[in-house]
Amino acid sequence: MRKDTIKHQGKRQQLAALVAEKGIRDEKVLDAIKAIPRHLFMDSSFEDHAYQDKAFPIAADQTISQPYTVAFQTEVLQVSKGDMVLEIGTGSGYQTAVLCELGAKVYSIERQLELFKKTKLFLSKLGYRARYLGFGDGYKGLPDYAPFDRIIVTAGAPFIPKPLLSQLKVGGRMVIPVGKDSQVMTLIERKSKTEFQKTEFGEFRFVPLLEDKN
Ligand code: SAH
Repeated sequence: MRKDTIKHQGKRQQLAALVAEKGIRDEKVLDAIKAIPRHLFMDSSFEDHAYQDKAFPIAADQTISQPYTVAFQTEVLQVSKGDMVLEIGTGSGYQTAVLCELGAKVYSIERQLELFKKTKLFLSKLGYRARYLGFGDGYKGLPDYAPFDRIIVTAGAPFIPKPLLSQLKVGGRMVIPVGKDSQVMTLIERKSKTEFQKTEFGEFRFVPLLEDKN
């Protein structure tokens, strides 16, 4: 395993300060950014850039999301300790680690086999214990473990998948970037068995949520 040094830790403090400057107020989210060694979630050739507020390529043509995007999405999600959280798109595992830092019981799925295997091993080495890391199709959610208090989709969804709505608890929140070329960050709150309230935030850019491959 590569190292986490004082220098890396210092850079994370600066990154958290930058993300705060851009408008993130949730101290717990900022603390997670300060705590997580982002450089280890990336290929060593990008290590020098790990604490810039940018997305970077990871395996299987995917990306590790921009820290501001992760922070924004997590802030809107409003996670409390012990919440059952479903994440669609494990990717590098960075967002998974943020959710673990917040004390969530994390269930995460990834559809690229290579990434799924790599990240599962990596997160356990780092000491982040998700409740479930699976290889699967996010459009279907995770019916065996539903319902969830929170659902976070970390890839751009052309539409809101119905199974995800049905796997959300009443009183639960889902944050999903919706759109094709660019995405509108969308919050869905489940008010009752049949009522969902939608709030739209700014534009973001994600890699696409891809249709079934498994
Ligand atoms: N949360 C990740 C973001 C990775 S990018 C991180 O912090 O690094 C989005 C991820 O969603 C990619 O790894 C991609 O392979 C995955 N993905 C795309 N379509 C998917 C689907 N239908 N089901 C599950 N994961 C999907």
